[in-house]
Amino acid sequence: MVLEQPGRPLRLTDLPRPVPDAGQLLLAVEACGVCRTDLHLLDGELPDPVLPVVPGHEIVARVAGLGPDVQGDWHLGQRVGVPWLGWTCGQCRFCTSGRENLCEHARFTGYQLNGGYAEYTLADARYCLPLPDGPAAEHLAPLLCAGLIGYRALRLAGDPHRLGVYGFGAAAHIITQLARAQGREVFAFTRPGDGASQEFARSLGANWAAGTDEAPPQPLDAGLIFAPAGPLVPIALRHLDKGGCVVCAGIHMSDIPGFPYAWLWGERSIRSVANLTRSDGLAFFEAVRQTPLRTEVQVFALEQANEALERLRQGALQGAAVLRMA
Ligand SMILES: [Zn+2]
Ligand SMILES: [Zn+2]
Repeated sequence: MVLEQPGRPLRLTDLPRPVPDAGQLLLAVEACGVCRTDLHLLDGELPDPVLPVVPGHEIVARVAGLGPDVQGDWHLGQRVGVPWLGWTCGQCRFCTSGRENLCEHARFTGYQLNGGYAEYTLADARYCLPLPDGPAAEHLAPLLCAGLIGYRALRLAGDPHRLGVYGFGAAAHIITQLARAQGREVFAFTRPGDGASQEFARSLGANWAAGTDEAPPQPLDAGLIFAPAGPLVPIALRHLDKGGCVVCAGIHMSDIPGFPYAWLWGERSIRSVANLTRSDGLAFFEAVRQTPLRTEVQVFALEQANEALERLRQGALQGAAVLRMA
């Protein structure tokens, strides 16, 4: 499925099987998650896409071929994951200070590099993650962005005991389970009146769930915002205890309304999380190995990608949409 121009649906296209270049793996895609970032790409809300592009950056695949000079211990048939961070320069001041997620020249999967809404794709082996063979591919796919970005957002939130999550979609449903396993209390916020999502949050271990029009019973140590709605920032800020942090985890958000300085006072902070590093990926999948997570998915065929995206846009999904290749 190819994006030729923002604002248009993806087009089902027959492409030749790609040939791996130096350092690249040829991958037979098993499943690819559908992420909100893909919607932002379709809507033209991300700068400088390289078009036409095959979207998709939550790729679960099998190695189907190796290009020359592939680094690392990869073999044919091995299961790998390809996340959003597809390439970095290794030389800029961010890359050389452990912050490759902020690389000046980074390229991202399914945005500037062809991604996983396809039967075959290519990936730089250095940015691929080894995945376990056991779980079904569709259950692993959401871990590669929703899970990973959620994990980094939680890490950047410090070590909160009482954690708020705002927007109970793919990322929140994964990170709620992990945070509970780590002994944290989770307070889930959904759209006002969305009883089904609140029930879903409680079923995954959330200690408390309500609409964003309600206040939590106690002040929170951190809030993770997964919905692309700027007005959630002051709401989450008001829920924070002193010293607490609001982490905005989306790549795009509507404008944040003004608020009194007193809400920020008390060493509260607001920050964003951008992308991920390879070490986040390794640490997250190690955590997943120790705490198996249940991902709730709705499976679509590759040619149903536009329908899956539309369902995501309407908030008509519980958990994550995943494309499963035949
Ligand atoms: Zn994503
Ligand atoms: Zn760099």
